[in-house]
Amino acid sequence: MIEADRPGAGGSGFPAGLATPRLDAGDAAIAGLYAQALETARHLYDATPGAVLGRGVLQLPQAERDRARFAKIADQPVWREGAMTVIDAAAAEHRLGEAQADGGLMMADARVVRPAAILEAWLEGTPVLSATVASIRRAGDRWDLLDAQGRIIVTADAVVATAGWGVEALLETGVLSPVRGQADWRDGPSVEGTAWGGYVAPTVGGLLYGATHTRGDVDLTPRDADSRQNLETLKARLPQLAARLSQEGGRRVAVRATTRDRLPVAGLRSDGLHILSGLGSRGFCIAPLLGEHVAALIAGQPSPLPASLAERVSPDRF
Ligand SMILES: Cc1cc2nc3c(=O)[nH]c(=O)nc-3n(C[C@H](O)[C@H](O)[C@H](O)COP(=O)(O)OP(=O)(O)OC[C@H]3O[C@@H](n4cnc5c(N)ncnc54)[C@H](O)[C@@H]3O)c2cc1C
Repeated sequence: MIEADRPGAGGSGFPAGLATPRLDAGDAAIAGLYAQALETARHLYDATPGAVLGRGVLQLPQAERDRARFAKIADQPVWREGAMTVIDAAAAEHRLGEAQADGGLMMADARVVRPAAILEAWLEGTPVLSATVASIRRAGDRWDLLDAQGRIIVTADAVVATAGWGVEALLETGVLSPVRGQADWRDGPSVEGTAWGGYVAPTVGGLLYGATHTRGDVDLTPRDADSRQNLETLKARLPQLAARLSQEGGRRVAVRATTRDRLPVAGLRSDGLHILSGLGSRGFCIAPLLGEHVAALIAGQPSPLPASLAERVSPDRF
C-alpha cells in the first residue's frame, strides 16, 4: 500500500458515506452487479467495528416517473427478499420526522458508513509506505514504482492502481474524468440516511449533507457558494431539519473519478497493470466486490464476477 498523503486523503475522507447501489431499472446485468456488490459491502461493513452509522437508506423520488421506476426496481429478482420496498408518504414521514409528499424506495440493505473506521480496521497490519508514485515501469516480470525523482519506491509482482482520480495522472487512461464535490456537515441534530439527488447522512455527532458535482474541476478549496447550494438542496427536501441545524461543523472537497458509461474501471489492463478506479459516487457500495474481483485475477482464483460483467468494467473496454 503506497499512499501519497494519508489514508482517507481523497474521496474516502468524509465523516460519512452512503453505501447505496446504482439503481438501474433497464439493464438487468448492471442491477445484478450492484445487488451483489451491496451484499458483499453490507456483510463487510457490518463486521467492521465502528463502520456502520446507519442501516437502510431511503431514496426519495425526484420526478413523477420515479414512482413507477421504484416499483420496477423493487420487483427486480436480483435483490434479497425485503431489501428493496416501496414505502408510502406516511412511512417516509415516520422515518424522517417531517412530511414527505411522496413515499420512496426503502433500501434496507444500504448502509451509512464511517470511512475512517473502515480504513483503520482494513489497514490494520498493512504497512503503508508514504510516497507519491510518479511512474510505473516493467522490471523483467515485476514492476518498479518510481517517485518524481526517478527513485524506486518499491518493486512488486503485481500493481493495482487504486489512486482514485490520481490514477489518471499516473496511467493516462484517457477514460477517467474528474467531478469535484463538496459536502458540509454540522454537529447536533441528525436523521436517517436519505438520498434524492442530494443526500443527508448521520455522522458520529450530527449529520452530513451535500453534495455538489462540478465536472472538470479539481480545485480542492471549499467554496461558500457550494455550502449555500448544499443547504438549499437540504432545505428543499427536509426544511424542518435544515431550520434546526447548528452553526458548528465543517466542510470538505474531494474529486470523484468518473467514466463515460458511469461504470467503474476494474481489472487487468492490456499492459499488465491492474486498475480499480472510476468509482464515481458509488465506491462504498461497489469497491469491495471489485476488490475481490481484482484480487482473484492476480491470485489466479475464480472471480466473483461472471465474464460478461468483468468485461463491462474492464479497463480495456473503451
Ligand atoms: C463530496 C463527495 C461525497 C461523496 N459521497 C459518497 C458516498 O456517500 N458514497 C460513495 O460511495 N461515494 C461517495 N463519494 C465518492 C467517493 O469518493 C468514492 O466512492 C470513493 O471514496 C473513492 O475511493 P478510492 O479509493 O477510489 O479513491 P480515494 O478515496 O480518492 O483514494 C485515493 C487515494 O490515492 C492517493 N493517491 C492519489 N494519487 C497517488 C499517487 N500518485 N501515489 C500514491 N497515492 C496516491 C490519494 O492521496 C488518496 O488517498 C463522494 C465523493 C465526494 C467528492
